[in-house]
Amino acid sequence: MSAGEPLARLEGIVKRYRAAVDERPALQEVDLTIRKGEFVAIMGPSGSGKSTLMNILGCLDVPSAGRYFLDGRDTSRLSPDALARLRNRTIGFVFQGFNLLKRMNAVDNVALPLLYAGLSLTERRRRARELLERMGLGRFAESLPNQMSGGQQQRIAIARALVNDPQLLLADEPTGNLDTQTSASIMALLTELNRSHGITIVLVTHEPDIAAYARRMVRFLDGRIVQDTSQPSASTHEPELIMRSSA
Ligand code: ADP
Repeated sequence: MSAGEPLARLEGIVKRYRAAVDERPALQEVDLTIRKGEFVAIMGPSGSGKSTLMNILGCLDVPSAGRYFLDGRDTSRLSPDALARLRNRTIGFVFQGFNLLKRMNAVDNVALPLLYAGLSLTERRRRARELLERMGLGRFAESLPNQMSGGQQQRIAIARALVNDPQLLLADEPTGNLDTQTSASIMALLTELNRSHGITIVLVTHEPDIAAYARRMVRFLDGRIVQDTSQPSASTHEPELIMRSSA
């Protein structure tokens, strides 16, 4: 699928964490446009601003200067409630440490983001269960996180990120805690979500092997973009059919 219209657009984004004028900002005048259907890897050494960028893209933090447009909306003009709704509807998050709630089974973890959609508990669980089935994870529905392997937990966490049908998936080192083979299977799933389901993905990684799955690589250094290249060959892996389309 070719990339479409802008989904997330950063214009002149500056992020300062401290008031001191001589403190170098974590992001310095960053301009970045992520288009619908893209799969972007964000790389760069520790401290280069990758997490700060992801927090801003995810509307978890606000820039000190510059503008952030998400799905055509200027996020600085939205009330906190409107911003939370836009985030909930548009973005799914996947983390290195999976971040599943330990006392909840897979169904209830996956159903969590539906809490704000005004659905009954029965309906939330029905949707979560249906998504787990489509992702081939139905057998884990009643399992608690500590009864699953790391790779299985990350699949459940990806299901949770998808349950609201987001356009944008933000993944912060999603394979950082996984072995090579499990990492490859998680990347195959993300590749399929991007190619077959049109989900836009922004992924932070330290590993060139993982970045190679993306079709565009953006490298940060000292809070600035120092490289932005497309990788037409991307990964040569044929996406297996891991997730069935809904209905
Ligand atoms: P990366 O994710 O690439 O490791 P970060 O975005 O975490 O980089 O950090 C960029 C810069 O901002 C670093 O200098 C870091 O020390 C600083 N920084 C990040 N978060 C905070 C914070 N909450 N308070 C103060 N400084 C921070």
